[in-house]
Amino acid sequence: MEVDSATVWTDCLDVIQKQIDEQNFNTWFKPIVPLRHEGDVLTIQVPSQFFYEWLEENYVPILKKAIHTVLGENARLEYSVIVDSGNQRNPPLTVNYPNGKGKTGLAAPQGNGNGSLDEYSPFTLRTIDPRTVNSRLNPSYSFDNFVEGDCNRLARSAGVAVAKKPGVTSFNPLMLYGGVGVGKTHLVQAIGNEIKQKLPEKIVLYVDQNDFTNQFLNALQNHKLQEFQNFYLQVDLLILDDVQFLAGREKTQEMFFHIFNQLHQTGKQIIMTSDCPPRDLKGFQERLLSRFKWGLTADLQEPDFETKLAIIHNKMQSDGIQIPTEVAEYLAYSVDTNLRDMEGVLNSLIFHATLLKKEIDLDLAKEVMKNIVKEIQSDVSVDFIQKTVGDYFRVDLDAMKGKIKKREIVIPRQVAMYFCKRYTQLTLALIGENFGGRDHSTVIHALESVEDMMKTDPNFKNSVDELSKKLKMRMVS
Ligand code: ADP
Ligand code: MG
Repeated sequence: MEVDSATVWTDCLDVIQKQIDEQNFNTWFKPIVPLRHEGDVLTIQVPSQFFYEWLEENYVPILKKAIHTVLGENARLEYSVIVDSGNQRNPPLTVNYPNGKGKTGLAAPQGNGNGSLDEYSPFTLRTIDPRTVNSRLNPSYSFDNFVEGDCNRLARSAGVAVAKKPGVTSFNPLMLYGGVGVGKTHLVQAIGNEIKQKLPEKIVLYVDQNDFTNQFLNALQNHKLQEFQNFYLQVDLLILDDVQFLAGREKTQEMFFHIFNQLHQTGKQIIMTSDCPPRDLKGFQERLLSRFKWGLTADLQEPDFETKLAIIHNKMQSDGIQIPTEVAEYLAYSVDTNLRDMEGVLNSLIFHATLLKKEIDLDLAKEVMKNIVKEIQSDVSVDFIQKTVGDYFRVDLDAMKGKIKKREIVIPRQVAMYFCKRYTQLTLALIGENFGGRDHSTVIHALESVEDMMKTDPNFKNSVDELSKKLKMRMVS
């Protein structure tokens, strides 16, 4: 007489329980329902596709051992996977899979008449109301205040396209990458905010890698994986920030892989950011990396001077603060670490201007910079002036200090002297000394001719202005 499935399964559980810890046993084996036992085949029902994939990824040897111990070497296990729990009118939809195919991806369904892979869709147990979902977006990030420049043009326009038609463009997933503070988070949040505003019926979710991992581990511990994935599978726009930190987190990657596939298959939009292009991400499963490359990968570069200037003006304007051009240019030149430092400097300036009622001028800017941006040179030296001016006019240091009287050398030499007078505390005699032992009258002559040329030759004046900016950025007195 054939033993009923419940008894067989209870015996299997005894074998399994001895091999894994209690928590995993409760999470992954308690929810299983034995359905049928016919000949060599035991069919068990599992609550979801993910559950099935997880068992196949992690517990195949244990399951095989259990079933062989209880039913003999020829015994086989089959799954009946609930893909839709149904409702009062419709019975649950299930698909069947044989055990042992999980590693190669989805096994072909062993149709039981209830469903097929084509019919398969990640129906969820409970439908979430988009209005109740906390998107975790910061409303202050928008496209309006995301300044466009050469450094971010492609990424920005891809973002705009995605925001117009989430899930519909071929930019799915959209993967944005770049160094610290280049605007990745700002841009992806701007996309999220725009979609949320235009399509309030869509569920938009921004999470950074850390949130995602923590939520996942929590769900795992509290036996809430089902809810965790049900929630994620209902999201219309999923933004995962800083994926590079998923490196080496196998289980979390596994879960993300599953969510990614389901969302992608159903035309949901996925956006990710990373600090490097997908090909350079280390500690990732190859199959996940290859998914990252499916859509569009766009990089954000360090902003150039013009873009930084525009960002400064934009930010100050939105706070209703006037900033003298001189100060804005000084900051754009000086803060060359990253935009987050820039943000710090600007916030501090706003603080000084609004609360302490100080006027924003170069001195205040320098003061603030000193406290926020490290590694700024404290003074500008003759060497530095000679080098900067020399580089600009392509004249080497020796020539700058030497005797040559050719015009191509004399003019840069005079310009360098002029800046030494303007930007250092040195006396005329000492300046002369630094230029191959010339006397102070030569320096006076140099200053006069530079000033004359600036009045008569606009190109020359431009060069001097440009050099002046370069030098000023080093000056924190
Ligand atoms: P990342 O995520 O790449 O490290 P963030 O998005 O956090 O960088 O940007 C750092 C700061 O610089 C933020 O305050 C952001 O608003 C600002 N920022 C970056 N790029 C731009 C831009 N193009 N226009 C305006 N602000 C920007
Ligand atoms: Mg960021």
